[in-house]
Amino acid sequence: MIGPEFREIQIDLGALRRNVSHLKTVIGVEHLMIVVKADAYGHGMVPCARTAVDAGADWLGVADVQEALTLRQAGIQVPILAWLHSSREDFQEALTNRVTIGVSSLAQLDAVANASYAWTDGPAPIHLKLDTGLSRNGIAPEEWRKVFERAKYHEGDGAIVVEGIFSHLAGAGPQADLAAHVLFEEGIAHARDAGLNPSIIHIAATATALTSTSMRYNMVRIGIGAYGVSPDDTTPVANLGLTPVMTVRSRVAAVRKVPAGVGVSYEYDYVTPQATTLALVPLGYAEGIPRSASNSAPVNVAGQVRKISGRVAMDQFIVDMGSEWVTVGDPVVVFGDPKRGHPSASDFARACGTIGYEIVTRMGGRCVRVYVEL
Ligand SMILES: *Cc1c(COP(=O)(O)O)cnc(C)c1O
Repeated sequence: MIGPEFREIQIDLGALRRNVSHLKTVIGVEHLMIVVKADAYGHGMVPCARTAVDAGADWLGVADVQEALTLRQAGIQVPILAWLHSSREDFQEALTNRVTIGVSSLAQLDAVANASYAWTDGPAPIHLKLDTGLSRNGIAPEEWRKVFERAKYHEGDGAIVVEGIFSHLAGAGPQADLAAHVLFEEGIAHARDAGLNPSIIHIAATATALTSTSMRYNMVRIGIGAYGVSPDDTTPVANLGLTPVMTVRSRVAAVRKVPAGVGVSYEYDYVTPQATTLALVPLGYAEGIPRSASNSAPVNVAGQVRKISGRVAMDQFIVDMGSEWVTVGDPVVVFGDPKRGHPSASDFARACGTIGYEIVTRMGGRCVRVYVEL
């Protein structure tokens, strides 16, 4: 049987705790939001949220209201901002559970105000999300004036209060970031002109929070850095003072000796160059190992960093171990902490033509998550 020790996602909450407290110290602004959307980037939302709060995060960020409600059901009390909604969202349950809504349109603004009129517990705090060049779900600059005026009107009625204004950068380089920063400043000025008085201003995610002091304002929204993955995949996380939280572990499930010239895995994309030993690792694309890792991604097998040989299949991949001695049950680390001799999530991602964010977030399938504090 392929037991749980063959498919393990180890989550080091100790590393998460140290990353959060390190980021809080080096960034040093009033509010630190840790982003735990998408099941905390594949690390498990509730345990990561609890640990982050314990380590000093005073805000949590999620995409959907549903994620925020899950955090509330788990008893988490800190303010939570949710910023991705359908155009016909009913915000009543969100408000009842003190979820702060990131508002991206006039329709959403009215929907929050309506939900708040029906709910009598004081004005609902909201954060207005301005588009400053990402062209996703923020309020477009042409709409700012109209939305700010309507927000002021709803504030007058006691339905809402604009507690925050925020935006998200495209990461398209310093020039684009600067243009977005200028536009964001204009947006904040227009909002103040319209009589709004937001007390929390935020635009920076991990990459910008670490590199640009002028864009930290009084809150930053940190996702990937908290999980110990580099936001750009080129700077080693250790250089940022961060430790990888996720380690994907397996064990060699089968070993076979083959002669030179043997085709390995589907379509024979790998042919053994010499007589060798093949190790079978029981993780496949069902577990989130991308098929693009075929013949390219590094893994640590029995203490040696080698490349995946041939195609990644649904349930397994093969590693050519050359003359290394390897036996069934030997430990495998797909990615983890380079300080322990493992490829990093970024190393693995680069070989697959993707980014560390995608690699950690997609891992799952039949893996079991194991929480540790190292
Ligand atoms: C995901 C997300 C973040 C976190 O970004 P990182 O690069 O992971 O730090 C911040 N803000 C918004 C709006 C997001 O969607």
